Amino acid sequence: MYFSVLGSGSQGNSVYVESGTTAILIDAGFSGKEIAARLQSIGRSIENLNAIFVTHEHQDHIQGVGVLSRRCKIPVYSTYGTIQGGEPRWGELYKCVEFGTGDLVEMQDLQIRPFSISHDTADPVGFVIGNGKVTLAYCTDTGKVSHLLRKRLSKCNGLVLEFNHDPQMLRDGPYPLAVQQRVRSDHGHLSNEDGAGVLQSLVHDQLHYVILAHLSATNNHPDLALKAARSAVGEASVHLKVAAQGLATELLPLREP
Ligand SMILES: [Zn+2]
Ligand SMILES: [Zn+2]
Repeated sequence: MYFSVLGSGSQGNSVYVESGTTAILIDAGFSGKEIAARLQSIGRSIENLNAIFVTHEHQDHIQGVGVLSRRCKIPVYSTYGTIQGGEPRWGELYKCVEFGTGDLVEMQDLQIRPFSISHDTADPVGFVIGNGKVTLAYCTDTGKVSHLLRKRLSKCNGLVLEFNHDPQMLRDGPYPLAVQQRVRSDHGHLSNEDGAGVLQSLVHDQLHYVILAHLSATNNHPDLALKAARSAVGEASVHLKVAAQGLATELLPLREP
């Protein structure tokens, strides 16, 4: 299995995952043109996408959903709540498939399992994506980490995890108080400390890649997020990377143990 974070942050989010002949996007929060360009930058094409899985209906996760679905005939998968919330903005889709939180969606070489997260939208989810040998978990846009969520993220081989803000920078930064409160609420975003706390409990021998994601451009700095994550993983041999807003990561391999 291979994956690339095509971009991450409040201006847009999308992750590419492939195994065998199956390829999907988690979210499409950039324009269709931008997603096509970023896929091309890792040697892949929108033509080969089998599906787009949507976490929730915020614009930074759905901007390109409608245009990609219609233009390239790509089915879109999400929860009932997200589909209801997304529809007015993404318009008619080539095909729309609803799943229940906790369902297992089988798509050729990939199995995709959604799980509930805590965010200020109708029915937001994260995903664990497997190919029968390795798994990748995607979890951003959550204000808290439940027991179930932690369980879903455990034992994965790759992890894309939210490190949204540095609490001090958020407090001292330009955001109005109401916005600050929303960010740090149970329905907002995980701070560096929150992300590091979760990560610490998830480290195991077969965890190879951890991508720090959805960093705030205003209230965080990649060095601070990395420092928090490094102290969480300790001596474990985990590759840590910060996902950028403007540039796709390389195509990263998740190898079988
Ligand atoms: Zn969101
Ligand atoms: Zn977001």
